[in-house]
Amino acid sequence: MSSPELITSIAAMRETSRQAKMRGTIALVPTMGALHDGHISLVRAARAACDVVVVSIFVNPTQFGPNEDFEHYPRTLDVDLKLLGQEQIEFVFAPGTAEMYPTCDTGTRVDVPQIGDRLDGVSRLGHFSGVATIVAKLFHITLPDMAFFGQKDAAQVAVLRAMARDLNFPVKLVVCPTVREPDGLAVSSRNRYLTDKERAQSLVLYRALTEAHGEVYRGVHDARQLRDTIVRVMKSEPAAHMEYAEVVDPHTLLPIEDVSKGALLAVAARIGSTRLIDNVLLPSSSRNDLCE
Ligand code: AMP
Repeated sequence: MSSPELITSIAAMRETSRQAKMRGTIALVPTMGALHDGHISLVRAARAACDVVVVSIFVNPTQFGPNEDFEHYPRTLDVDLKLLGQEQIEFVFAPGTAEMYPTCDTGTRVDVPQIGDRLDGVSRLGHFSGVATIVAKLFHITLPDMAFFGQKDAAQVAVLRAMARDLNFPVKLVVCPTVREPDGLAVSSRNRYLTDKERAQSLVLYRALTEAHGEVYRGVHDARQLRDTIVRVMKSEPAAHMEYAEVVDPHTLLPIEDVSKGALLAVAARIGSTRLIDNVLLPSSSRNDLCE
């Protein structure tokens, strides 16, 4: 099995993509590394869809707030490269911080107003501007036809969809389902921060969403009732400090009253010092849709 080529400079990545584009389609999978099964599911979807797969690994400083975990975020490039070596992909783009944000960077940022200020954007001020900026840069550098993102970060998906549309990026965004541990916990690079006790307590997010999802299945369409259910279950775990529980339109992230035309049930909470998010996407719907 051949290992992917590691590229660290923008110039080399751009030239490589320019050449690859003449041969076929390019898929980009943007990540911050510390790869897990969730990331690998995106890589496999990308592999199945395009001729050339680029996985980017970059811990992006502009999407972390001053009191967040940028310094401590896990950086495991060697292990990541080994994992990707088993996936038959062509390129890993892993630039250093100074390559992506050189000292001459004057702070030009991509802002997605309103959508970027909802859900995680409320407590993580400027987070989605950092995300939109780095993804726009990666699109310019790697020239993808398709880019792969996880449903796990549902607000990020809404922000990037709006960005790609507003700025006319010729890139198809593909959203892959959330990969979970066998007990339901959404796989995340930040799960490694959890102690065993916190790991058990963190299951409350999945329990809250599952209970609300079950109510939808039983015919409840009232968003307020579903939100109340999520909040009630979250409160049953004293170790969970809930940041938000929302029932929103998955595209605008605005609250809705009735979920029968589709909805995003989303929750964020701190367990100890670890911030976790999770969500369930309800299709526009009948009971049968939910059974798929
Ligand atoms: P990150 O490295 O956390 O920036 O994530 C890179 C990509 O992987 C994003 O598109 C995430 O939404 C996606 N991702 C993270 N966790 C999961 C998961 N459990 N299932 C599916 N995709 C995920």
